[in-house]
Amino acid sequence: MPNILIAGAAGFIGANLTHKLIQNPENQIFALDNLITGQKSNLSNLENLPNFHFIKANINEPLDFQIDKIDIIYNLACPASPPKYQANSIFTLKTSFLGTLNLLELAKKHNSKYLFASTSEVYGDPEVKIQTESYRGNVNTVGPRACYDEGKRVAETLCWEYRHQFNLDIKIFRIFNTYGPLMDAFDGRVVSNFINQAIRNEDITIYGDGTQTRSFQYIDDLVDGILKLSQAKDFYGPVNLGNPIDFTIKELANRILEIIPESKSKIIHQKLPQDDPLQRKPDISLAKKELNWEPLIDLEEGILKTVAYFKEKM
Ligand code: NAD
Ligand code: UDP
Repeated sequence: MPNILIAGAAGFIGANLTHKLIQNPENQIFALDNLITGQKSNLSNLENLPNFHFIKANINEPLDFQIDKIDIIYNLACPASPPKYQANSIFTLKTSFLGTLNLLELAKKHNSKYLFASTSEVYGDPEVKIQTESYRGNVNTVGPRACYDEGKRVAETLCWEYRHQFNLDIKIFRIFNTYGPLMDAFDGRVVSNFINQAIRNEDITIYGDGTQTRSFQYIDDLVDGILKLSQAKDFYGPVNLGNPIDFTIKELANRILEIIPESKSKIIHQKLPQDDPLQRKPDISLAKKELNWEPLIDLEEGILKTVAYFKEKM
């Protein structure tokens, strides 16, 4: 009967992971969240299950809940959308440093396995087209994205040091842009923005000229990668988890309009935010080799599923 603590469980990725792990009735799921960007409704259909326990808590504060033993901690708690993490930048920094530290102390106390959700943002605005885990990044320490990027970088270092100093089973994965059901329609990220604009016949807002690239991973592929990493023996990362096929933002807008042909939306251009990375594309050789993992769902299939989710929500 493993006890599993999922921090950030009401958010997009945390809720998808919770839904997957709760299917095994052996797993006792402790879903922790302070609901700053997550939504309790992402978990509402689990509330009556005997192996589901919700804990409302802020990981930046001392954690005083009582669980006899914790076998695994997934730390996904952190605002992830640029407008959200910038809106409360000190909170974001505290979450990456103090929150990660508090959960690492909990892992030390319980000798828990610990998986940390890092990000492709540790590479900043990369000077290389394809980012391997050994690329050290190009991050502005005092720009608008620094509270998130530098926070995640120091959080990785905390995880690394706790593994070495206390011989704990701590693993780091770097997530590249991920999308799918249970995303907040209005948290400002590009896939949810474009789909919701298209189904509401509102203007599709491309920031800048739309030639910047991103690679988009469907959520089920990410959850599969996280679970494979959790089960991997003697492999700790950091490991990239992302879809290696990249698109320009302009291509993404056009693909979404093709998938929703009834949309009357027009594409408009708005100012490119400061420090917006121009390119992003993961090298996933390490994940292929160590986890036997690669994404299986292409953009078309993933967007179709996500459009169906948002249409139903409307
Ligand atoms: P999200 O905003 O939907 O979810 C984050 C969750 O964490 C929310 O439910 C929020 O309320 C909770 N949270 C935030 N700070 C907290 C705190 N101090 N205490 C307790 N709960 C807190 O974001 P997401 O897309 O689900 O991202 C989950 C994790 O994955 C984050 O750590 C993020 O940095 C990382 N990540 C996501 C992506 C992506 O494309 N979605 C990419 C890279 C990294
Ligand atoms: N973007 C955009 N229109 C939007 C939202 C985002 O053109 O309505 C762009 C944004 O400037 C960035 C890319 O899409 O270049 C991805 O943005 P997102 O916020 O999803 O994540 P990021 O990868 O920047 O963290």
